[in-house]
Amino acid sequence: MEQSGFVFIGPRPETIRLMGDKVSAKQAMIEAGVPCVPGSDGALPDDPAEIVKMAKKIGFPVIIKAAGGGGGRGMRVVHTEGALLSSVQMTRTEAGAAFGNPTVYMEKYLQEPRHIEIQVLADEYGNAIYLGERDCSMQRRHQKIIEEAPAPGITDEQRQRVGEACAAACRRIGYRGAGTFEFLFEKGEFYFIEMNTRVQVEHPVTEMITGVDIVQEQIRIAAGEKLRYQQKDIVLRGHAMECRINAEDPFTFVPSPGKIDGYHPAGGPGIRIDSHIYRGYTVPSHYDSMVGKMIAYGDTREQAMARMRVALSEMVITGIKTNIPLHQELFMDAAFQRGCTSIHYLEERLSQSKKGTE
Ligand code: ADP
Repeated sequence: MEQSGFVFIGPRPETIRLMGDKVSAKQAMIEAGVPCVPGSDGALPDDPAEIVKMAKKIGFPVIIKAAGGGGGRGMRVVHTEGALLSSVQMTRTEAGAAFGNPTVYMEKYLQEPRHIEIQVLADEYGNAIYLGERDCSMQRRHQKIIEEAPAPGITDEQRQRVGEACAAACRRIGYRGAGTFEFLFEKGEFYFIEMNTRVQVEHPVTEMITGVDIVQEQIRIAAGEKLRYQQKDIVLRGHAMECRINAEDPFTFVPSPGKIDGYHPAGGPGIRIDSHIYRGYTVPSHYDSMVGKMIAYGDTREQAMARMRVALSEMVITGIKTNIPLHQELFMDAAFQRGCTSIHYLEERLSQSKKGTE
């Protein structure tokens, strides 16, 4: 728990990893031929000399990650050899306490990557397809806040290459259900980081551009039905963006649970609001701070952004604070409007604006 107000109660059930944890997921992907971030390719050994040797071979900076971690937690970046062993020890202790699993592994820390992920659907009869990619690079503390599909600048050839590798991996490991392969994308290369074996928060942007109801397909697959789509049926059309609406101060990020005394959701062409809130609803302090998702669809990225700007200005949630003002700033931000910003963009922007007000 990094901030007061919201209490974290154990790992969420959906963060349970493919075959137990992230280490085994990564090993399965290496075997399936999916490109991975260079790293320890397995749990770190106990021997300190071995750990130092590995880090030197990978090259600093490295990131130490908990095998059982999730939601952006259980990670530590290490820039120097001097800080390595104590960081490994600290991450192990924290991971044991938070996730009940002290296993950690090491990866090269990529400096300017984008987060790009591939949505898949696979049935129990060996059929697997991919539904294109999402760009989820707009993050704070490794947590996504804006997602979009398709990812700006990704070519059809790149999409097909990585998508087919993911579908092939699903067939190879006998995966069944909806799932997501997460990659870091840097200098034209995709590096696998983890698989999410569930429907994710950001699935609506893929639904909007493919017309596939991912939740319904997941239920059909679980009921033992055959996949209704073949790869050739999946055609990407238009552009979709999603803002995660969180109950928090938009600039200090202090959580803001409490009673919602006014609620007027935005609407109009291309706008979808997925939320459980209503006037009189009390946002509890025990869970994640997300209270809704605003999705904007357009024929082009520009149209989706324009619709999002209007929808953000129309949306009324009173009684609690939300991060809508932050989204409004980001949708006016020149670099974000151009597209292709890295996973560090938001934090760098926030630290600059903080300096500006000091
Ligand atoms: P979680 O399950 O907690 O979401 P992930 O492994 O998906 O953890 O990583 C979450 C985020 O952390 C990524 O989207 C990225 O921003 C950052 N991250 C993870 N691994 C690396 C890495 N090797 N280099 C740079 N950033 C990383």
